[in-house]
Amino acid sequence: MTKSSRRKRFLTGENGFRLPPMVKRREKLIKIKRYWKVETLEEAYELNQKRANRIIGGMVWMKMGEKQFHTAIDLSDVVSSEIVENEEEFIIGAMTTLRDLECHEGIHKYTDGAVKESLRHIVGVQFRNVATVGGSIWGRFGFSDVLTMFLAMDTYVDLYKGGRVSLEAFSKMPYDKDILLNIVVKKNTMSLAYESMRNTKTDFPVLACAASVRPDEVLLSIGARPQKAVIIRANDTVMKIDRSEQEEFARALAVQVKAEISVGSNMRASAEYRRQLAGVLARRAVMKALVADEQKPMVITDTDTLQTKGGEQIC
Ligand SMILES: Cc1cc2nc3c(=O)[nH]c(=O)nc-3n(C[C@H](O)[C@H](O)[C@H](O)COP(=O)(O)OP(=O)(O)OC[C@H]3O[C@@H](n4cnc5c(N)ncnc54)[C@H](O)[C@@H]3O)c2cc1C
Repeated sequence: MTKSSRRKRFLTGENGFRLPPMVKRREKLIKIKRYWKVETLEEAYELNQKRANRIIGGMVWMKMGEKQFHTAIDLSDVVSSEIVENEEEFIIGAMTTLRDLECHEGIHKYTDGAVKESLRHIVGVQFRNVATVGGSIWGRFGFSDVLTMFLAMDTYVDLYKGGRVSLEAFSKMPYDKDILLNIVVKKNTMSLAYESMRNTKTDFPVLACAASVRPDEVLLSIGARPQKAVIIRANDTVMKIDRSEQEEFARALAVQVKAEISVGSNMRASAEYRRQLAGVLARRAVMKALVADEQKPMVITDTDTLQTKGGEQIC
């Protein structure tokens, strides 16, 4: 048998040749009977109560499985895809794309570039032009850079029936049939930084870490453990260290993180490796955030007062 005929039999699965998993995976498709663009939120909510129906965001995650749905509920006429900034907060419509979030000047300034850093590794620009913030937050995926980043800020979600809930509480809630309308980030004074480690570019993170340095506390959001992100707050021993001793502060927090973090193993890394990594990323992220904090004015209510590096172009 020639090399090419063996390859053909292998790829087509002829004569009992087992198909390699990659070829099998390509056959899997999502099947949807009806696509429905709703006109009101109530209509969307009612449709979503049926088990066979699903809300769609950018649909890039949903399309990965071999599932069958009756109605795909498109929210684009009733849920915002814009970011509104005012003195107190950013209101990010659930249909906003990850790319719009990444390129938003106000968010870039407020987060010291951390949001952009958390998003730029996610697959590619075309992908981020489709994936939505709503789909990413609603999913509460273990691997999520988006959830990890937003948990480090003072973030709330607006649910159609559930009202406003803190993201920390939402991340622990079971999945239900509500609709995510907005993600709200309060402009409290803080400095932020984001670090992640990937085995290969654009893969899911092996571990992700966002640091938030605030006037009265320092916290880390650690995700892809591989379970979903959790918050670790610097304990009293760490907080007693003078923050101007940045190296010492960051090292002490890294020790605390390594002792406290709950991590697991999967195909990307072992639990032990993740524990070590958690210490390293925590130290780097806190160092970065402390440096950013040092360079800031005391009270921030307006992102215009913050300076990005001279004329830096975001996207
Ligand atoms: C190949 C691949 C690689 C990825 N890599 C990463 C990565 O490295 N880091 C990372 O953070 N993310 C990653 N992601 C996830 C991605 O960034 C998005 O989070 C994900 O695709 C969901 O966004 P979406 O708009 O496509 O949501 P969809 O796939 O449309 O929806 C996801 C879920 O959310 C529900 N939903 C959507 N919007 C709403 C709403 N408004 N209200 C209620 N429910 C809603 C849907 O019903 C569905 O259950 C990856 C995804 C893929 C496919």
